[in-house]
Order: sequence, then structure tokens, then C-alpha cells
Amino acid sequence: DRLIAPSELANEDTIDRAIRPKMLADYTGQPHVKGQMEIFIQAANSREEALDHLLIFGPPGLGKTTLANIVANELGVSIKTTSGPVLEKAGDLAAMLTNLEPHDVLFIDEIHRLSPHIEEILYPAMEDYQLDIMIGEGPAARSIKLDLPPFTLIGATTRAGSLTSPLRDRFGIVQRLEFYSVADLSSIVKRSAQYLNLKMDEEGAIEIAKRSRGTPRIANRLLRRVRDYAQVKADGDVNQEVASLALDMVDVDKHGFDFMDRKYLLAIIEKFMGGPVGLDNIAAAIGEERETIEDVLEPYLIQQGFIQRTPRGRIVSDRAFAHFGLAKTE
Ligand code: ADP
Repeated sequence: DRLIAPSELANEDTIDRAIRPKMLADYTGQPHVKGQMEIFIQAANSREEALDHLLIFGPPGLGKTTLANIVANELGVSIKTTSGPVLEKAGDLAAMLTNLEPHDVLFIDEIHRLSPHIEEILYPAMEDYQLDIMIGEGPAARSIKLDLPPFTLIGATTRAGSLTSPLRDRFGIVQRLEFYSVADLSSIVKRSAQYLNLKMDEEGAIEIAKRSRGTPRIANRLLRRVRDYAQVKADGDVNQEVASLALDMVDVDKHGFDFMDRKYLLAIIEKFMGGPVGLDNIAAAIGEERETIEDVLEPYLIQQGFIQRTPRGRIVSDRAFAHFGLAKTE
């Protein structure tokens, strides 16, 4: 596994659950999202209504699940969690929907991966709080209709473009999460360090933040590796030097890139003369899935200006050449 994979690794949950913010006030960064959600939540609460359905999108590890849980906490309701690929049977969705209390949150992660027949059950559920499903097969099949309590569907997705438009249109609120600034990530790192009883100075926190690819999950993960290093190789406290040595040791460079990023960039530079090159060719060259490249590897490289997605394919920038100390050959 990549240390800087933005998706969850095994065994990560226990500490992570403890340091995950519970209320909007502790949700660092994303000022636009926070500002809007504060108002929408307060309005729904004062009207004693369910909050409008909410779609959250953004690359993995930026806080979609965290935000969904915070919204439920702020509304003072329960949250039931599932995900697109897990919801296979109409009956599973029906069971979840009919178990909701009024104003509860149903959270569906990876909502772009719902199968079409499940999506169709969601439409009337979202629009009119109606459950309309077929039970049985053949001549015995019949349709049942049930009223559902008013509820809030929160959908999370890494790819807004993959959502069908009828589904997308049924979300009253759409929030897009952005990569976090170094300042926000260093606050997150400092807050997590407190939970871990770890002494760390400002420069130590900034060093970790800089190498975290704008992603809180990666920041927290790097923090734990730095903590290990500090405990064994230093006096347990974290400063810039300790953080820097620890992160060099685990092969996360100054830009937060690891072997996968380097492999990807070098493949385009060396095998395709810097591009433009199509996604399928890159995928074959580095032996990685298309989806992983698009969802996990590329967003941060694009945001940092290392590559561009163009209609003719990917192009690496001068910045990427410079990163490897290479000159661009035309
Ligand atoms: P996603 O669902 O987008 O993949 P998560 O919500 O699971 O991401 O976030 C990953 C981890 O990063 C969380 O467990 C939490 O500890 C941390 N995190 C995410 N967003 C924030 C934030 N805004 N402030 C503080 N910590 C955050």
C-alpha cells in the first residue's frame, strides 16, 4: 500500500475515529462549505424540517464522510451509512429507508457507483419520501408503496461527472471540497498531535502539512509515522528536522510525492516525451488502473500544476521537468 494513498488503509480507523472532528466548529478549512452549511443547518433546525439532500464531492481523504457525520450531529439526528457498491439489492435499500426516524441522515458513500435499479428507487424516495418497490417475481410480483419519514440523503462522490443527471438534480445542496492549504493542514496536524499526546512545534507541523498533498487523511497518517520516528530516533518531540528526516525515510518528498507520482510523471516524460498522452497508454505504461490514476493520482498533480488534462491527453508541465532536474526536449 502507498503510505500517501488518500483512501483508508487497514487498521487506520481507531485513532482516526478519535481525531475525526465531530462538530462544524472543529472542521478546519473549507470556509465556503462551512459558511453555507452553518446557515442551511440552522434554517432546517429552526423550521423543524429535514435538511435538503446534500451531495458532497471531492478527491478521497478530504473530509466527505467527516462532513456527513458532522451534519447529522449538528442536526441532532442519527446517521445510517452505506455505499454505492454495497447497495446491491432493492430490499437492502428499502430496509435502510424504512428504518429511518424523521429527519435522520442516510449517507451513501461512492454514490456514483449505485446500480441503475437502486437509483430508480431513490428518485421517489428523495423527491416525495415515497418507497415504491417490486417484490417477488413473475406472476406473483407486486409493487408496494410506503410513506417514508422525511429524511436527508447525503451522497459522497469522488467523481461528480459520473453521476447521472436525474440523481444529481435531486440534490438541493451541492458542496465541493477543495484541497487544503498548508496552514489548514498544519492546524489539523497540531490538533491530532494533541490527541496523540505528542509534543510538536510549529515548524514540525508545517513540514508535515507541506508534504500531505492537501489531504487531511494523509496529514494524519504522516503524523503517525513521524511520531514513530521521533520516539525511536529522537527524544519523542517533533520539530522540523525530525519531521523532515522521518518523511524522507518513508520516501515522501518535499512536494508530498512518492514513488507512484514519480513513476507516473517520469513515464510521461521519458516514454511519451512529456505528452500529450492518453490515459490508457499511461495506465499500461505504469501498470495502474485508469480509475486510480484519474481519481487518486492526478487531482493533486493537476492542482499543483505538474500536469494538465487536455482533449489530446495528459501533458506534463515545465514544473514537472524541473522537479526531476530535466530539461524539456521539443
Ligand atoms: P473522505 O470521506 O473524503 O475520503 P474522510 O471524511 O474520511 O474523507 O476524512 C479523512 C480523515 O481526515 C478524517 O478521519 C479526519 O480525521 C480528517 N479530516 C477530514 N477533513 C477534516 C477537516 N476539515 N478538519 C479536520 N480533520 C479532517
